[in-house]
Amino acid sequence: MRDAYDLIVIGGGPAGITGALTAVECGVEDVLIIERGDRLGGILNQCTHSGFGMAYFGEEMTGTEFAGRLRERIKGSKVEAMTGSMVLGISEDRTVIVSNESGCARLHARAVILATGCRERPLSSLQVTGTRPSGVFEAGAAQKMLNLGGYDIGDDIVVLGSGDVGLVVARCLAQRGRRVIGVFEIRDICGGSDKNRTECLDFYGIPLYFRHTVTRIHGDGRISGVTMKDLDSGEERFIPCKTLITSLGLVPERELVEPLEYENGSLPEWLFTCGDARTVHDTVDAVAFEAEETGAAAAEFLREALTNERFYSFQ
Ligand SMILES: Cc1cc2nc3c(=O)[nH]c(=O)nc-3n(C[C@H](O)[C@H](O)[C@H](O)COP(=O)(O)OP(=O)(O)OC[C@H]3O[C@@H](n4cnc5c(N)ncnc54)[C@H](O)[C@@H]3O)c2cc1C
Repeated sequence: MRDAYDLIVIGGGPAGITGALTAVECGVEDVLIIERGDRLGGILNQCTHSGFGMAYFGEEMTGTEFAGRLRERIKGSKVEAMTGSMVLGISEDRTVIVSNESGCARLHARAVILATGCRERPLSSLQVTGTRPSGVFEAGAAQKMLNLGGYDIGDDIVVLGSGDVGLVVARCLAQRGRRVIGVFEIRDICGGSDKNRTECLDFYGIPLYFRHTVTRIHGDGRISGVTMKDLDSGEERFIPCKTLITSLGLVPERELVEPLEYENGSLPEWLFTCGDARTVHDTVDAVAFEAEETGAAAAEFLREALTNERFYSFQ
């Protein structure tokens, strides 16, 4: 493993992989992907449902199949991948600090692409009182536990928030014979797509309630129920449940670049972002197309900078 690369890509999801592959196709020599998980693929590795790839690969596939297709491309390419490695920081002199089981290393890059995806808004972003028992999961974490870990996360489920992740998880639980009491949404529109509303809720008879939110969590040890408020009537009622899944929206994971942002919000010319780290996308196909553009832009930047000898050596 070298300690200097032309391009370091942080995050080995579909954005990072596609960006890295495109950069190599555009002539960049040394490209490294750093991924904190054990394998490349990102969030797709836990998406066992179909609905991916129509625009990008011209066929409908599951998320895991899409990820497998990208891993195959990486295998046949010059892109280097370092998994099980977490990037802790990026400094102004283009040093990337990475931690893994071998310890902490400082790698130098001429350009960096941030492709770290997004994360879910936590329950603490709402004003919810009560206890903090077990049995409360964010939808993405629940999906990972169900699809990758094979865990039983409980029955009698309330889903708070109607984002796509919540809808997909509600279906996943219904398919496993679990009772999904309902999906409760604070707004008066469904946060997820019409397709997911039909396929994940209507098909399984799962009710969707608008203008509702949880105001209190009950239970010692395990959750025993929630206080649900009807925002139109102001009425509150107790709903017994054994599991609460929250799907409150996604936020780009870009803390690594925030210290490097200029006052106007722009980034240094050597630092690029793509995928859900740039803005949350509805489809992975849109992520892949955008990442191709980002990989090409990074390659163009490197070509121009190297031609003009703007990098005599790594700083
Ligand atoms: C439940 C769910 C259902 C979806 N359904 C569909 C669908 O039906 N059809 C569709 O087209 N799209 C769907 N999407 C959307 C699509 O999957 C995402 O938009 C896409 O996967 C985002 O790709 P990404 O590479 O930007 O992020 P991610 O896939 O999240 O990859 C980011 C990667 O960065 C890594 N990382 C983060 N921080 C660091 C760090 N500091 N150091 C090292 N590595 C780091 C993470 O481990 C991760 O592997 C769905 C998404 C979800 C969550």
